[in-house]
Amino acid sequence: MELDKMDENEWKYHGEGNKSLVVSHVQLSRVLRLLKYPAEDSENPPQTVEQAFRQIQNIVDFSSNVMSSLLGDNFIHSGEVVKLPLEFVRQLSIKVQHQRPAWRCDKVMDIYSGCALCLPNLTSPILHQPTHTPPLCIEIKPKCGFLPSSKHVSRDIKTKVCRFCMHQHYKVANGKWKRRSLYCPLDLFSGNRQRMHFTIRHLIEEPQNNFKIFKGGQCIYSSKEGIDDSMDLSSLLHHLRPYFLYGNNRINCHMSSKAVFNDFIQVLVNALLSGGGGDGGVVTDRRGEGRSFCEASHFSKERIRHGSQGLPSDSVLFRTLQTQMLDTLDIEGLHPLYRRVEQHLQEFPKERTRLQIDGPYNEAFLEKLQKCPNEDDGSVEYAAAKVHQYRVSMTAKDCSIMVALVPSGEEEEDDEGQTHLRDFISSRTPAFSYSVSILDLDPKPFESIPRQLRLDQKIVSYYLKSGGSLP
Ligand code: ATP
Ligand code: MG
Ligand code: ZN
Ligand code: MG
Repeated sequence: MELDKMDENEWKYHGEGNKSLVVSHVQLSRVLRLLKYPAEDSENPPQTVEQAFRQIQNIVDFSSNVMSSLLGDNFIHSGEVVKLPLEFVRQLSIKVQHQRPAWRCDKVMDIYSGCALCLPNLTSPILHQPTHTPPLCIEIKPKCGFLPSSKHVSRDIKTKVCRFCMHQHYKVANGKWKRRSLYCPLDLFSGNRQRMHFTIRHLIEEPQNNFKIFKGGQCIYSSKEGIDDSMDLSSLLHHLRPYFLYGNNRINCHMSSKAVFNDFIQVLVNALLSGGGGDGGVVTDRRGEGRSFCEASHFSKERIRHGSQGLPSDSVLFRTLQTQMLDTLDIEGLHPLYRRVEQHLQEFPKERTRLQIDGPYNEAFLEKLQKCPNEDDGSVEYAAAKVHQYRVSMTAKDCSIMVALVPSGEEEEDDEGQTHLRDFISSRTPAFSYSVSILDLDPKPFESIPRQLRLDQKIVSYYLKSGGSLP
């Protein structure tokens, strides 16, 4: 990829979130992640080229120096900042515009700075040959997987019903989504296979922005509010079926749709419980499950047939949950500490640098949040360290997990391209090799904390008012 000879015809729309738009290369396993900003600012960009460059460099540093040591560097690809020709970026923005979902078009792509983040394309991890079955990638945005236990929590409901489940009522009331999702993050993070299976089914039924499936790098299933009407369950089934024909099924091709989904979810659960790419870990976190059951979850506790399995300590879910749990005080306990830092900065603006409020996100930043004392000594350093921890936890509550599944029966072909059926018949579950990554690890701004408090209050009071406590 030569940066001075970029051709927009070699790039296509891949996806977007609230903060960035992603395009993928048509041949290389590469994506470019470009910043977005509110459409009303489209005439005058909100930041200079230098600021845009710094912002993306901060994302790289935060991901590689802070998040990767907390989440495990085997899961993380931090990428690098690139400077693109402006003409290329302008052409690209015109080219992708009509493919963008309408509900995302309140923001526009940054066409002024030419800065972007270049990353490996995690949805097409290997350059698969056309003769081989393309890899399947599942993206899950799991959100917060625990209930707060901080003494600062003022409403009892927050210790019983998880934030995601409460937020669903608020989002539907505000027209963000048409239907509530019955997914509950506490079930996903439970490590109990039944609960995980149950809740992934709900992710499939109502994906919102928490679930996507890619085949050969192409998004084949996502929120129904997306671009395409063809993304319904029957078309998903059509895509998945060939991956789950094995044993006798591969020969006579009879397999119920329920069985296809069951096998798909089982493979996904296996990957989520495995370590960085190898076998499942031996050490499990057995305290996990008892600690967290959400009263709004539609999974009935009575259905748990097997005891608590807990999360293997090297699994992506365990590492993500541990990092989320750096939020020890809850926003209600954190906000006064935020105020302490803010007041200190009003008096001594130069302290912003020493306290590393906007970075740099280096070893020293990581050390500040890891060596934070348990007790509040009244200092601004303590308050800043707790704010740092909270911001890191916010990132871990907002990241996505990408599971790439590559059918491994593929290597079984001999020189004539004959598949050895023996290998399929002997195994009960289809064989996949998988790799797991975590993406979207941007630092959350210091200034976003007051907004978090207001949002928390709105969600909780709406939930109580609307009688949402009845599932
Ligand atoms: P959010 O609103 O969740 O904060 P965001 O604006 O920060 O999202 P990302 O989540 O990083 O943006 O990217 C948007 C989407 O682009 C992702 O959900 C994912 O589908 C896709 N994507 C991002 N990075 C990659 C990558 N390295 N490889 C493949 N796909 C990617
Ligand atoms: Mg995202
Ligand atoms: Zn819940
Ligand atoms: Mg993000």
